[in-house]
Amino acid sequence: MQRLESDTAPQVRESLGKYALRLRERLGLSQKEVAEIAGIHAQSYGKIERDRTDSLNHKTKQGLSSALKIPSDYLDAVCRGMVMTTNQGIRFCPKCWQSGTLPDSLWLHSRAKYCYECGTQLRERCVSCNEQITSFKHRFCPYCGTPYQIPHLLPNEKR
Ligand SMILES: [Zn+2]
Ligand SMILES: [Zn+2]
Repeated sequence: MQRLESDTAPQVRESLGKYALRLRERLGLSQKEVAEIAGIHAQSYGKIERDRTDSLNHKTKQGLSSALKIPSDYLDAVCRGMVMTTNQGIRFCPKCWQSGTLPDSLWLHSRAKYCYECGTQLRERCVSCNEQITSFKHRFCPYCGTPYQIPHLLPNEKR
């Protein structure tokens, strides 16, 4: 089963500090150790976990993502207040979403059914095998190989 990312992805309403703490504990590292691997000051790292920091510079982000073993996109998402609801699956617009990027938080809203941009019905399951989509790392459904995105040439979705 390829569901590795789900517990490392940011959760709904998780702050940067809580997220960092959760990942750090998951790896069994001390604050000092994470700071060292990330190449940042232990004090600066402490601030992050206490939510005294709301934006990270590029270098810190790179360092943290390698120390906490997560894609730096995830940190971006948390900093921007974007959430990924991995335990409920992820919802996205198959037309507007670009593979390799995080979905827009408006699509993830629990009551959102249609894309705010283009009105397409949002998708949270594979159209072919109906497996829940839990990761945006893949362009295709890991179970059946169906692409998550609607090819732009097709005027309408089949269902
Ligand atoms: Zn759309
Ligand atoms: Zn599938």
